[in-house]
Amino acid sequence: MPFRSFSLLTFVPMDESIDVRASLIQILPDAVANQIAAGEVVQRPASVIKELMENAVDAGATLIEVIVKEGGVAFIQVHDNGCGMSETDARLCFERHATSKIRTSEDLFDIHTKGFRGEALASILAVSQVTLVTRRKQDPHGTCIRAEASTIQVQEPTAAEPGTSFTVKQLFYNVPARRKFLKAERIEMRHILEEFQRIALAHPGIAFSLYEDRKAIFRLEAGNLRQRLVQMFGAPLNEKLVPVSEETDLVRVTGFLVKPEFAKKTRGEQYFFVNDRFIKSQYLHHAVNKACEELLPPDTFPGYFIYLEVEPSRIDINIHPTKTEVKFEDESMIYAVLRSSVRQALGRYHVAPSLDFDQETAFQFPSTKGSGPVPTPEIQVNPNFNPFEKKEKGPRQPWETFFPDEQIKVPTQAIAALNEEEEDETPFRFFQLKQHYLVTSVGGALVVIDPHRAHERVLYERWMSLLMEETAASQQTLFPETLEFPPADITVLEEMMPWLRQLGFDIELLGISAVVIRGVPPEATALPVRVILEEVLQQFLHAPSSLKQQKKELLARSLAGKMAIRNGIVLDTAEAHRLVKDLFKCKMPFVSVQGKPIVQEFTMADLDERFLQRR
Ligand code: ADP
Ligand code: MG
Repeated sequence: MPFRSFSLLTFVPMDESIDVRASLIQILPDAVANQIAAGEVVQRPASVIKELMENAVDAGATLIEVIVKEGGVAFIQVHDNGCGMSETDARLCFERHATSKIRTSEDLFDIHTKGFRGEALASILAVSQVTLVTRRKQDPHGTCIRAEASTIQVQEPTAAEPGTSFTVKQLFYNVPARRKFLKAERIEMRHILEEFQRIALAHPGIAFSLYEDRKAIFRLEAGNLRQRLVQMFGAPLNEKLVPVSEETDLVRVTGFLVKPEFAKKTRGEQYFFVNDRFIKSQYLHHAVNKACEELLPPDTFPGYFIYLEVEPSRIDINIHPTKTEVKFEDESMIYAVLRSSVRQALGRYHVAPSLDFDQETAFQFPSTKGSGPVPTPEIQVNPNFNPFEKKEKGPRQPWETFFPDEQIKVPTQAIAALNEEEEDETPFRFFQLKQHYLVTSVGGALVVIDPHRAHERVLYERWMSLLMEETAASQQTLFPETLEFPPADITVLEEMMPWLRQLGFDIELLGISAVVIRGVPPEATALPVRVILEEVLQQFLHAPSSLKQQKKELLARSLAGKMAIRNGIVLDTAEAHRLVKDLFKCKMPFVSVQGKPIVQEFTMADLDERFLQRR
């Protein structure tokens, strides 16, 4: 029996024959404990690549070479020309919580390295066979260590160049349950590529190469960021880049945007780095997206490579075990700076030539250096300010200001008329002003409708009623589609799943990081389902609410906003007619989901009044 058992409570008899329940708790042997802990750090071959590459970066290497075989499951080697390790350190580095990067708990608030937990190598060794060859420049010879399953088997001096080389073989060979869950070689390779690219993009000053077996996938020379991007993504990217740069006391923003006209239909290159560490942030993404939204062709995603530098004490990189999330102390200010720097970049490089950016450059950020509480920012970011909005010139006024006292006027005549003639056989006449406003006459009144808001309202009310009914909606079948999401997003999706089903999404969880979708509601067929779900996730991540009813409303609202037809689309007669009819069947046909007017009605009396030019 390998387990030690004991009891801290003296009155509990230790004799198992008396009561077996007395010692149910066992202390796990180190090898088992290490294997369990390894699960946190090492999920797949790509996690090993990430940890080893980061160690090489921390070791000050200027050249890092990665070799993988069979999707990294059989073989991973990471070779660097960094500082190397002494004989003692070469042994120590495999111990759990063995690190040269922090010493006291205060150091935790001033992290300048990739690693600091001292658990990566211990975790890797718990689930694979490792060979380490390392040498410091000042040492006459290097050290070679062979180890597997948490035990060092051979340690001997060896001839070696200065630097370090880790070889990791047969990942999860001793944990069949985990090995079974690895995906096909191609998929594991894709994850490896992703990690490799993230680290290589974070450090353009370091030369990196990646080999799959003997085939070179990447050979990236040291250079500046633009050179790195071009080497990684190809020469055509060069002309599509717009530099971003902004510096405040709080944060320095550098990097590039992909010109909106080249935005991709699928989520393309979207990279944020904070202090040279790749991170994911829906919040920051939202800032960039908002800043260039108006310039993006419909249904495309912005591309960007944005680097933020913040004082390490002002961020917490420790909230996620695989460390791709960051918590900022001054999140909303970083949001504002980022958004403004993206707008300025677009304006400065004439991507949007006729824009007025004065308001954007007037930011004054309070100094955040030194101790003491951070003062509340003095700037007020107007969330509705939009430099891309064309200013109305001349005597024309926006529709809303026609009735200054009653911004949202109830189109009483139109409603009455529509309710009467349910099955109207007369041909529907309308025209669309600038592919936007739908102008028609209903019940003797001139009616102007905003099609997007109208459709959004129709969808919202339809879905709210489905969500209240608690009966499954019909659905269309499509080829099952599997979408991967980060586990955090999956938890949100999981909560919404019953509601999504009520709306007609045939959706199911698949493990901890994917969903499979077999059907969508008919209204949702125009957009890729990933786009729809991402929109919903974005809304939920930014407007957390604990109330079920509010969540349902948010779901219906975000789906409606995303799926409603866009202004700028020409409607045919049938579509326009359907929309108008559906709209006037709504409970609140004249107020948009966002509280803006949907319909403006000009009765004969209104028109007469204008023509008579009273006053
Ligand atoms: P951490 O990176 O969090 O410190 P690791 O388990 O990844 O923990 O590494 C443990 C220690 O081993 C590091 O702190 C470092 O001192 C040493 N080490 C690991 N890889 C290298 C390397 N490539 N070159 C030099 N030293 C290394
Ligand atoms: Mg490390």
